Amino acid sequence: MIFQDESFFSFLFRTQLIYGYLDFSNIFRMNGMVRTTIIAKEQLLPIYGRINKKALYLMINRTQREKISLEQPYSHLEEFNRFLQQGVAVLTGSDFFFVRFCKECLDESYKLYGISYFKKEWEINLYCKRHKRTLSEMTGRGAKHSVEIMTRLISGGTLHDSEFIIHPPP
Ligand SMILES: [Zn+2]
Repeated sequence: MIFQDESFFSFLFRTQLIYGYLDFSNIFRMNGMVRTTIIAKEQLLPIYGRINKKALYLMINRTQREKISLEQPYSHLEEFNRFLQQGVAVLTGSDFFFVRFCKECLDESYKLYGISYFKKEWEINLYCKRHKRTLSEMTGRGAKHSVEIMTRLISGGTLHDSEFIIHPPP
C-alpha cells in the first residue's frame, strides 16, 4: 500500500520490513537519526519499479505539492529516475532528524488501513495541525531503538512514556 503523504524513509522502511531486509543501516545513522540521503536495497529496486509511477512520484516529490503543476510538470523527474535506477532517495529536510510522529495520526491510519505510516510533514514540523498537538520524537537512543519503535508503531503497537519525548508547544 502506498500513501502519498508518507515520508519516503517510512515507505522504504516498511518495504524492507515486509520483504525481510532487516538491516536498516541504509535508513538510520548509528545514533538513531534518519539519514537525509537513503540508498534503497538493490534487491528491492525491481519491486519499487512496479509501483504505480504517479503515486511514487508524488511521494518522492519534495515540494509537497498536491498536484503536479502544468508549468513545472516534471521538476523532480530526474530525482524520480535516479531513485528507480540507482535507488538514491533524498528526503525533504536538509538535516538529519530523529523520527517524529503524532500517535493519533498513527492510530487513525491503523484503524483505516491496518497499518500505520510516518507522514512527510513530520520531517519538518514539530506540530500536528490535524490533531492540534505537538509531535512525539524518538530521540538519542541509537539505531536499534529507532527500528524497534518504528516497527511497533507501524503495526499498531503502543509505547511506554520512557521511549519517546514530546516537544514543548511551539
Ligand atoms: Zn495527528
